[in-house]
Amino acid sequence: MSEGAGRLERMFDGGLRSASDAAVVGAIEDLAREEAKTAARRVAAISELVRRRCGDDERAYWACDPWDATAAEIGAALGISRGRASGDMHLGLSLRYRLPRVAELFLEGLLSYRVCSAIASRTDLIQDEAALDLVDSAIAEQALSWGVLSANKLQKAVDAWVDRYDPGGVHQTRTRAQDRAIRVGSQYDGSGVTGISGRLYATDAAALDRRLMQMAHGVCDDDPRTIAQRRADALGALAAGSDRLACTCGSPACAASDDDGRAASVVVHVVTDADVENIAPDPVMSGEGFESDDPPPAKKAAATLTGRGGVVPTPLLAELIRGGAKVRHVRRPADEPEPGYRPSAALEDFVRFRDLTCRFPNCEIPAELCDVDHTIPWPLGPTHASNLKCACRKDHLLKTFWDGWSDRQFPDGTVEWTSPTGKTYVTHPGSRVLFPQWNITTGALPPPQQMDPSHARTMMMPTRRRTRTEDRAYRIKCARALNDAYVAERNRPPPF
Ligand SMILES: [Zn+2]
Ligand SMILES: [Zn+2]
Repeated sequence: MSEGAGRLERMFDGGLRSASDAAVVGAIEDLAREEAKTAARRVAAISELVRRRCGDDERAYWACDPWDATAAEIGAALGISRGRASGDMHLGLSLRYRLPRVAELFLEGLLSYRVCSAIASRTDLIQDEAALDLVDSAIAEQALSWGVLSANKLQKAVDAWVDRYDPGGVHQTRTRAQDRAIRVGSQYDGSGVTGISGRLYATDAAALDRRLMQMAHGVCDDDPRTIAQRRADALGALAAGSDRLACTCGSPACAASDDDGRAASVVVHVVTDADVENIAPDPVMSGEGFESDDPPPAKKAAATLTGRGGVVPTPLLAELIRGGAKVRHVRRPADEPEPGYRPSAALEDFVRFRDLTCRFPNCEIPAELCDVDHTIPWPLGPTHASNLKCACRKDHLLKTFWDGWSDRQFPDGTVEWTSPTGKTYVTHPGSRVLFPQWNITTGALPPPQQMDPSHARTMMMPTRRRTRTEDRAYRIKCARALNDAYVAERNRPPPF
């Protein structure tokens, strides 16, 4: 180890280099307790912000309501998504107003964040205050003796106490059939592959399995792909509306070589000057692959991406183009602003491919689902790449209607957001990381003139039919109704 690396490593030994093993384990335990204490205080601080921000007024009917705006503020501060921030907000309110004894143990570091989250979410259907008080006391008394519980056992332990004092408030375990879903992972990591996972009815899964196997065996023996790769490609062919998989043996005489429509359903957007029409497919993309100490062959950096398929590395692109994918070049826009409010298709393309996702801090909504927002509202701010960015609907509403938020955009696409408390958060276009060689800097704009507020809003705040509070009350009512039959049965007097 070099001297420099040794010095760095000693900075991270926790001061325990010469301590006994027992002292090291003791330190781990003590620090976990400190961590729980700190987490408790963080969640308490979150509950305080919620108390200040989420009063009931007419904005409770806004599509981007006070809860959303607060979640955005906390998410930006913690570097987490709006969804996770919202979860901590619920936890904060539960501990503060519903479970004071559990909260006390959390603040002392005796219960972990994980345990408190489980307790809060499994007791959230209880509405009777006396019952809630009993459950809080009982759980606070018992929880310290629970020791280390798996998530499942922890849930059952909490449910048992809810069942004892308020059987109508027990969360019904979702049946596995209710968990039917297909999830598609993030498409923007540049690898060109995306994970999918899910749960189907057993009969549907069997039909899919059978069909993929038939399609995988429908190509000739010279197809270089493994069965697993062919099955994956076959699912893509099904999605493109084909019932066969095209063979990739390369022989024009092959009976299975007819196009399967996968590539043709793709539009490739080329965002740099890479010569995509003349690149060769990667020979190790199909087949078993191999381990090698040699550096991988020099590739042009992933220079391209597709509308819905996310970012695709150059060699995979070659295969798509060979299969008939359409190619569209994303050009840098002209220096002059466009005359209208709505950007031209070419300008919009540039902005979406530059940004890749919503530009609010920690928002991962893909660009194709976002609005194109004028950072300085039109017509004061021009329709120009240096004044346009992607914003998902929620964040677009946030910046337009929540007075405390503002944003500034720079010619390299950097956006600086200022929160209601004056904190600033900077986000960069997604393409800056994925395509570092792509020059995305566009012309500088003259400094904005005085803002005329009558121009500031080009959209209306959509409203919701029920406030979040009403929604929640409704959902609790429905969830409790699932227990009606069970509660009636339990309350029946014994037969003799
Ligand atoms: Zn073939
Ligand atoms: Zn967003």
